[in-house]
Amino acid sequence: MPTKQVCPRCGQDWIHLYRFRADGTPFSLYTECDSLWWPGEAVEVAHAKFLDDVVAERLGVEGNPWGNLVWADVIEPTP
Ligand SMILES: [Zn+2]
Repeated sequence: MPTKQVCPRCGQDWIHLYRFRADGTPFSLYTECDSLWWPGEAVEVAHAKFLDDVVAERLGVEGNPWGNLVWADVIEPTP
């Protein structure tokens, strides 16, 4: 396991491992500011993505991807 890291964007708390339910693609997420990092990327502000943007891209939608979805429909914490 990598060392626990605090979110570099907001500095609030620990980043957690999540994955997409559809295909198990893993990523790191900080759930307060929705910052996302792919595995192997340095957890730095310069590499941070926003969960909404990544989900919108995966679902092929513009703007807010959630609509009728909630997080638990799309992502889940990695056990
Ligand atoms: Zn943050």
